[in-house]
Amino acid sequence: MMELHILGTASARPTSTRNVSGSVLSTEEGLVVIDAGEGFQIRYSAQRSMMKRSDQTASLRPHKIAAIALTHGHLDHTWGLLPFLQTLALDGRKRPLMIYGPTSQVILEALETGGFDANVPEDTPSADLINQYRAWFQLGANSTELGYEVRWMLGEPHSNRWVELNPDVSSLNWHDEMPQPEPFKSIRLDALATKHSVPSCAWQITKAASQGVFDRNRATLAGLNEGERRLLATGTDIEQENGTILKASSFRGPGRSAHSFVISGDTAEQSIHPIGIPTVLVHEATFLEESHSKAEEHLHSTAMGAARTAKACGAEHLVLTHFSARIRDATESLNEAMEEYGDVGGITYANDGDRLQIDIDGNVTFYRRNEQGWKQHNITHH
Ligand SMILES: [Zn+2]
Ligand SMILES: [Zn+2]
Repeated sequence: MMELHILGTASARPTSTRNVSGSVLSTEEGLVVIDAGEGFQIRYSAQRSMMKRSDQTASLRPHKIAAIALTHGHLDHTWGLLPFLQTLALDGRKRPLMIYGPTSQVILEALETGGFDANVPEDTPSADLINQYRAWFQLGANSTELGYEVRWMLGEPHSNRWVELNPDVSSLNWHDEMPQPEPFKSIRLDALATKHSVPSCAWQITKAASQGVFDRNRATLAGLNEGERRLLATGTDIEQENGTILKASSFRGPGRSAHSFVISGDTAEQSIHPIGIPTVLVHEATFLEESHSKAEEHLHSTAMGAARTAKACGAEHLVLTHFSARIRDATESLNEAMEEYGDVGGITYANDGDRLQIDIDGNVTFYRRNEQGWKQHNITHH
């Protein structure tokens, strides 16, 4: 099972009910943090406490974080990262941690020619992650000072070219594709290009399709010997002495298809092209339709735009997030998105602390946060 904890649903600035961006995705192979705006670690530990109080068995222990994936460098998505890294150090973390963030082709080229300390072009946005990585390095975000290995990755999502910056020895290490978080085997993390005023990406976390389980009893009942059973179990068809062909596939239970979360960051609408159909798309919906020209100008999405994105990529479920402080009631956003999205799949909006599960069969359950814990909330409108 994969479970997403959406810990901040405000855009740009916090309001009395919503905090800035940051999510934690739990998978059987480790946790991924997606964005960490101001105050992220406080919301993270509050969520953990609430999980414990509600007798939820799933563990959000920060020790299990395999990767932190940033969508872009705007501070409402990144300002909480450095204090969080320091808390991990105080907690005695020893495991390596991967940190990923998008940059531009221009920055990659500058690093390629100029090395670790390359000058970046003057028109580089202050919020480009190269600038933030460097600022954090200056403030002690390196493996020596933190006491655990941090692998800093910057990449360009279109070309999927990545560079690893090592501030301990001022070196660069180039990768032709994004290195996966070390513990991941059946889970994959992919950066998807998006359109925003600074280099940006969405993150797709996919649980791979799996074969059905080999039916040992059936093979034994069919009178097969050990060697034959082993061949069938490894997927090889066998021919018996009497000429009967036994298909390996007929000795397996049903396989499971792949499923995934796509989490957007900030982006203009219809910019995301996922790898395979997303089971759940969590998409920014900064504005209402009345402000659609603002959305276009600042490369953000309206709720309707988020719905058009969901339709364009065939997402089975859509969850709206990243609401402007001017939106008093997210049901307005939901109603607008539903006009566009219709009965395509489940749709809802997120509040801080909400949880979304995709089980091993791809079924989606949404839990709305309340004062006592969570309450299951139906998001399917078929
Ligand atoms: Zn934002
Ligand atoms: Zn932004």
